[in-house]
This record gives sequence, structure tokens and C-alpha cells, in this order.
Amino acid sequence: MNSISNKLENLRKKLPEHVTLVAVSKTKPISAIQEAYDAGQRIFGENRVQEMCDKHEALPKDIEWHMIGHLQSNKVKYMASFVSLVHGVDSLKLLHEINQQAAKHNRVIDCLLQFHIASESTKFGLSESEAQALLKSSDYAQMQNIRVRGVMGMATFTEDDDLILKELGSLKSISDRLKAEFFKDEDSFDIISMGMSGDYGLAIQQGSNMIRLGSSIFGKR
Ligand SMILES: *Cc1c(COP(=O)(O)O)cnc(C)c1O
Repeated sequence: MNSISNKLENLRKKLPEHVTLVAVSKTKPISAIQEAYDAGQRIFGENRVQEMCDKHEALPKDIEWHMIGHLQSNKVKYMASFVSLVHGVDSLKLLHEINQQAAKHNRVIDCLLQFHIASESTKFGLSESEAQALLKSSDYAQMQNIRVRGVMGMATFTEDDDLILKELGSLKSISDRLKAEFFKDEDSFDIISMGMSGDYGLAIQQGSNMIRLGSSIFGKR
């Protein structure tokens, strides 16, 4: 048997306790998410706002929805009432919009800064100096309705484990430096979201405490 629930159970057996599993359900039907839910999974990741909103409507309300995709500012309003973590923040403008929409719902929305760590040019994200500029800005200092919880990144899609280790290690280092410079006294800056189906073992080895797995739970997309 290789059902969703079996895969989840096997994964849970081997994941260290400090690692949070985000089940990436993008493109998968409600029935597949319900099956994972029934097997105890409560955190799901989606990369399209409309799809996440539709699934949020249809499924149990104790699910934590994570937005893991590249996000356009004009879509933030649709998910601001319920999204629990936004992984892909890559600009001050986007953070500003999340803050404004969160304020309308009297919420504080948790966010991760996404970094460009891959050698591939197609992946989104900030550089370390861009993140420093963002965190030093007066606009950021005034935001009351977002909380930066940590960092997110994606390694190059490759068979080269050394390259993956190097890229994932660089994200951990960025996280350590930002923590020391900007979040020394904030225990809430504690999430390192890295690792997908192909590289989560390496990611955990490099200090990840949140992995985002799609195909290894739900099968190929
Ligand atoms: C699709 C996706 C994942 C999951 O990928 P798998 O290889 O299926 O585990 C993780 N993170 C992001 C940002 C994604 O877009």
C-alpha cells in the first residue's frame, strides 16, 4: 500500500521532532487533502492564491494554510483573513501590502523572507543585502501587522549533492546573521524553511526546521 496516509506515516517516523512538515498540495484535489487531513496532517502549502482560497473554503477550518509561491501584491487581499504563513516574501512592497491587508482583519500575519540561493536564475528571492536594506527601512519599522518569522529558500534542482549542500548551508548562514543583526531578542525569528521532496534530507542536515513536501506525499504532479 502506498496511500497518502502511509506515506505520511512513514515520513513522520523518520523526521526529527524539531522539523515541521508542510504538505504541499498544489494542483491536488480536495479529496487528497482530506485524506492527508484524516491521517493527522494539519499544515498545507499552496502556490496559487485562488486555489488556496477555494480549498480553504471547502476543507476543515483548523487547517493552517501556507502560501509558498511567488506572490503578487494584488492577490494578498484574498487570503489575508486566514493565511497562517507566507513563505515567499521577496520585496518591501509585498510586505507592505501584507501588513495593510492584515490590519484590515485585525491580524498579525507571519512571513518568511525568501532568498535567492540557487545558481539557477529562474528562482525568486532577495539577496542578503536587499534583506538588510528591507529590515533597516523605516517603512518596515512601522509595520504592526506582520511578523518576520525567518527565512525560506530553494536549492538548484540538480543531482549534485555538494552544490545543494552549499546552497542550503548559505541560507542557514544568512539566517544566523540576520538573527544576530536584527532579531537578537526575538524568539519568534526561528523558522528556516528549506527542503523539498528531492533534498529534504540534505536540508535537515543543514539546519532546516520546516520542509515543504509535495510529490513524496501526494505523488507526481
Ligand atoms: C512545489 C513546491 C514544493 C514541493 O515540491 P516537491 O518536489 O513536490 O516536494 C516545495 N516548495 C515550493 C516553493 C514549491 O513550489
